[in-house]
Amino acid sequence: MSEKDTSNWTPSADMAEFQKVLRSSKNIIAVCGAGLSAASGIPTFRGAGGLWRKYEAMSLATPETEAFAENPSLVWQFYHYRREKARAAEPNAAHKALAVFSIPSYRKVIAPDAGFTIITQNVDGLSVKAMNQVLQKEGDPRPTGIATLLEMHGRIFDVNCTMRLCKHVEYNTSSPICAALAGTENAVEAGTIDAEIPKDKLPRCSKCNALARPGVVWFGEQPKYMPEIDKLVDAADLCLVIGTSSTVYPAAGYAAEVSDHGGKVAVFNLERSDGDGEADFLFLGPCEKTLPEALGLVKLN
Ligand code: NAD
Repeated sequence: MSEKDTSNWTPSADMAEFQKVLRSSKNIIAVCGAGLSAASGIPTFRGAGGLWRKYEAMSLATPETEAFAENPSLVWQFYHYRREKARAAEPNAAHKALAVFSIPSYRKVIAPDAGFTIITQNVDGLSVKAMNQVLQKEGDPRPTGIATLLEMHGRIFDVNCTMRLCKHVEYNTSSPICAALAGTENAVEAGTIDAEIPKDKLPRCSKCNALARPGVVWFGEQPKYMPEIDKLVDAADLCLVIGTSSTVYPAAGYAAEVSDHGGKVAVFNLERSDGDGEADFLFLGPCEKTLPEALGLVKLN
C-alpha cells in the first residue's frame, strides 16, 4: 500500500462512508481467513484461541517431503480433528452475508455495478455450504450468474492420492475417514496427541490403495486458481479482508496490491492485524457482526 501517505493515517471505522465506497465499486473481492469461521466453532491458527499455540505449524502442514513424510500419523490425526470440527459446523452470519452478497439480484441494491468474488484461504467448506443454504432459501438451487468462490488452499474433505501416477482425488466426508482415527480428535483437542498409527491403517487411495493425504495446500505448495486470482486482484477496486491475520502469502499481499493500484481496502478482524494500519477502513470486532452490517444485510437469521 505504498501510494498512501501513512505517516498520519488512521483507517476509518465509518460504516456509512464504507457503504458509499461499496455502492460505487465495480470489482469487489473478499479475501477470507480462519476468523470467518471462528464463530462456527472452528479454531483459528493464530489470534486468541489459535490452534498453533498447541501445535507447531510446520510440523503439521508441509508436504510429502517434510512433515507428512516424516509422520503421516500425526498429520492425519490433526486433519481428522479438523475434519470433525468442519463436519459439525454450520455457516455463521458472516458466511451468510457473503453468500447473499454473491447473488446479483441482492447485490444490485447495495452495489449496483459490482462484480464480486470470494477468495478464501479456509478449507472447511462453510462458504459453499452457506451459498447452498442461501440459494435453497430462494427456491432455486443453481441459478446462473452467482459470483465465484475460490477455495485457494483446497478443501479439507478432499482426499488425494500421494502416488504421482495415480493422483486420484475423492470428496469424502466420512466420520471417521478410517477406523484407526476414531476418537483421536479428543487427544488433539487436549494437546496430548502421540499415538503412532501404522501407515497401512491410515486413509488409503480408493483407486490404487497408496497412502492418501488431505486435499489441502500446505506450506511450500502452490495455491489453487492462481491465474484467476491474479486477474481478480489486478482488477479489484475494493478488497474486503475478513478474519485473516494476513501473514500467509500470497493472500496476505492482495490488499496491498489493490491499494497500490488505487483501490480501497476494508479490514474486518477481531484485533489489529498485519497491514491494517494502511487500510482505508478497519472494522474491529467479530466479523459475524460487522460484515452483515457493512454489507447492509443485518436482518439475516
Ligand atoms: P489465522 O489463524 O492466521 O488468523 C485468524 C485471524 O482471524 C486472526 O487475525 C484473528 O484475529 C481473526 N479472527 C478470529 N476470530 C474472528 C472473528 N470472529 N471475526 C473476525 N476476525 C476474527 O488465519 P489465516 O489468516 O486464515 O491463516 C492462514 C491459514 O490458516 C490458511 O492457510 C488457512 O487455510 C488456515 N486455516 C483455515 C481454517 C479453516 O478452514 N476454517 C482454520 C484454521 C486455519
